Amino acid sequence: MKTVNDFNFEDKKALIRVDFNVPLDEEQNVTDATRIEAAKPTIMKVLEDGGSAVLMSHLGRPKGAEEKFSLRHIVDTVSNIIGVEVKFVDNCVGETVEQAVAELQNGEVLLLENLRFHSEEKAGDKEFAAQLAKNGDIYVNDAFGTAHRAHASTAIIADHFPNNKCFGLLLAKEIESLEKVLGNSEKPVTAVLGGSKVSSKITVIENILDKIDHLIIGGGMSFTFIKALGGKIGNSICEDDKQDLALSILKQAEEKGVKIHLPVDVVAADDFSNTANTQVVDIKNIPDGWEGLDAGPKTNVGFSYVIAQSKTILWNGPVGVFEMPKFAKGTIELGNAIADATADGAFSLVGGGDSVAAVKQFGFQDKVSYVSTGGGAMLEMLEGKTLPGIAAILSE
Ligand code: AMP
Repeated sequence: MKTVNDFNFEDKKALIRVDFNVPLDEEQNVTDATRIEAAKPTIMKVLEDGGSAVLMSHLGRPKGAEEKFSLRHIVDTVSNIIGVEVKFVDNCVGETVEQAVAELQNGEVLLLENLRFHSEEKAGDKEFAAQLAKNGDIYVNDAFGTAHRAHASTAIIADHFPNNKCFGLLLAKEIESLEKVLGNSEKPVTAVLGGSKVSSKITVIENILDKIDHLIIGGGMSFTFIKALGGKIGNSICEDDKQDLALSILKQAEEKGVKIHLPVDVVAADDFSNTANTQVVDIKNIPDGWEGLDAGPKTNVGFSYVIAQSKTILWNGPVGVFEMPKFAKGTIELGNAIADATADGAFSLVGGGDSVAAVKQFGFQDKVSYVSTGGGAMLEMLEGKTLPGIAAILSE
């Protein structure tokens, strides 16, 4: 696996696909710069070698060139983070861009305008990719968030750099972390899956069953299993048409020697609200009119026990409606258990949109081994798919 560390960028222009799809407030200020910070090590490696960096990214979902999605709004933030005054050009292909690239000196950084101002980007257009390819000598992909897309800048462009393409340090770390969990991981391996729906995680479950020893199923998706097993779940969230599938997953797990852990008790509420009345009940006996919104105390102890025995842990999805403080306890206790296991030497990987939000909200990001930056891309890797952005770099 070639990374920027395998190249010397002296006198070279690195064309780096980054993921600067950051949230902006109404005044177009960056409200969370995590993604920009995550790209810094790759950019610094290029500059420290004595090269220059041409950065390309998308931002939001513009329909054509919409000013509010201009990457111009993030120039100051990028400059502050990497400590170099970043230049900006208001397109990503064409003569003005080529000229700006030609004028770029070693040690300088140029940010191109939003790739998605051109519909050819998402269409994976070959001609557009050829034009983008004129903007650098070595192509670097450091955008994990879009690695599952076969877009012009994430995959198609790589054909123009048969010997001069590599992974950025962030993307390389993402791949290595997932390998650590799904490859030759230290046993026992435990996966914790939560969140609202079984349907969105079926392929993940089926793919990882061969690689894990324990599967903890929590949150909203557990009710489909509990109901399929004959439990009374009241008003709890449930995908009725997925009950057979839930039973089939339990059977497959048994055949493969994977121990499944479901919640045993639950914090039930009489309304989907932080001011609802609550009671702790047996998960198989939720009263009519009540819904399970968080893991109960016995469940938390049980899940923590399994995690404490684990040497490798993958966490995707909260075990309760953590956005409401009244139903956040299960997710916090789970995070604490994973943090403790990590402190004791386990490798822990957290990924997928909502678990990352939970990890940040409760301050666990420095207490787990790795927090993945790409929700959709990570899920597709867990599903066992080959991501176009990764395959494009690996292909000869
Ligand atoms: P997902 O996007 O499928 O990972 O689901 C994440 C969402 O699941 C979060 O917004 C949680 O609030 C929600 N969730 C977790 N547990 C429950 C539950 N018991 N009932 C309803 N929603 C839940």
